[in-house]
Amino acid sequence: MNVRDSDAVAAMLVAAGYQQAVRENDADLVIVNSCSVRGKAEDKAIGKLGLLCAGKRKRPDRKIGLMGCMAQRIGEDIFKKLPLLDFSVGTRRCGAIPQMVRRVLKGETNICEISAAEAFPDVPDTHNETGHSAFVTILLGCNRRCAYCIVPDVRGPEYSRPAHEILAEISTLASHGIREVTLLGQSVMNYGKMNDVWHSDDPYGTNGYKEPFTRLLEAVASVPGINRIRFTSGHPSGCTDELVHAMRSLPQICNHLHLPFQSGSDRVLKMMRRGYSRADYLDAVKRLRSAMPDFSLTTDVIVGFPGETDAEFEETRSLMEIAAFDNAFIFKYSPRPGTPAAEMIDDVNDAEKMRRNQILLADQDIRGQKLNQALVGTVQEVLVDGPSLRNSERWSGRTPGNKIAVFTPVKGVEPGSIAEVRIKRVAPQTLYGEIRGVLGSNLIIEYSD
Ligand code: SF4
Repeated sequence: MNVRDSDAVAAMLVAAGYQQAVRENDADLVIVNSCSVRGKAEDKAIGKLGLLCAGKRKRPDRKIGLMGCMAQRIGEDIFKKLPLLDFSVGTRRCGAIPQMVRRVLKGETNICEISAAEAFPDVPDTHNETGHSAFVTILLGCNRRCAYCIVPDVRGPEYSRPAHEILAEISTLASHGIREVTLLGQSVMNYGKMNDVWHSDDPYGTNGYKEPFTRLLEAVASVPGINRIRFTSGHPSGCTDELVHAMRSLPQICNHLHLPFQSGSDRVLKMMRRGYSRADYLDAVKRLRSAMPDFSLTTDVIVGFPGETDAEFEETRSLMEIAAFDNAFIFKYSPRPGTPAAEMIDDVNDAEKMRRNQILLADQDIRGQKLNQALVGTVQEVLVDGPSLRNSERWSGRTPGNKIAVFTPVKGVEPGSIAEVRIKRVAPQTLYGEIRGVLGSNLIIEYSD
């Protein structure tokens, strides 16, 4: 979500006549987009801003701004910590940034724009992406109140964008060469639940889906040029039969879902106020997996939530084994001030949180290797990104299951191509292979093996 917001703000500033710097050092204006989801993320943003503001001693004309969740959470008080910060703008007021920059350039400083949580949000619809994939925000804010989470306070209540706006944005992206879109929302399957998104005279697609989100997926799938659709983040309650059917039937929807589970213990899930049980979660996974045999599943999990016992941690461990996650983002619990969980006693000590974290990481490595091993010999369709970060002689891209595939480039394969890659060997999080051909082209490569 923050990557998307940063991109939208960059595009707004370019449209207002500014030029994007290639390196941070070249920039006359630096805006830090902050996250409040964990204390560590806020500490990092403050540290970075501290360095940038200290740099003003040498470059007094350089302007420094802050945006995002931390700006929203802290408000005007940020200037007590960082008196040299020029402006700070909250989550629902991104659209004000070009105007704030103009004011700062005229000599104002310490400008703060924080909206009330219930304010109508500025909807980011500008894009600055290069490449072939784009994020598209479809739902802002969150109405769930998970006990540990600060997001509903800083991002406000749920608001779903009208479907026709989203479709127009995606059509424009497709006309600029975007082939893959990821639809974004904190609880993305809630799309259209809190406000109307379809006009009464909007036509239904050929599948006759009734739910607003599945209707949107079908409409996005019909946008010419869009080959792949992803969406994140999911919630088990949103995994309806209609959604599972749409994922299986619409070929553009990738066979991958990011479905955070957070804990495998019913008692902890209740304390977290996640709104589902272990059985509900596993039932959603079962339905998804039986509909799509090559389905890939990733997740988020928290270890060391207040009161989490060893036995409850073992339930988390066993759920991960049953659900057979392809990848997992594992977080050690840290209290966020102002949340209900911050009132609970944070009684799992750091060493124990670290131990649990390491156990899950080790389990996941073994599991990821085993699941990927089963892909050796298969041919995967890879949307090509270009040279890989670690070694520019090798290129990388993503499979529909969102796995990174690394291969040696051949003539005729460009960033944005969908290459057919035969998998030769694997690591827990990466596939390595050879290009066999490119979809939509005559290129076919024969290897002797
Ligand atoms: S669903 Fe829960 S964890 Fe996710 S943003 Fe909403 S409150 Fe936070």
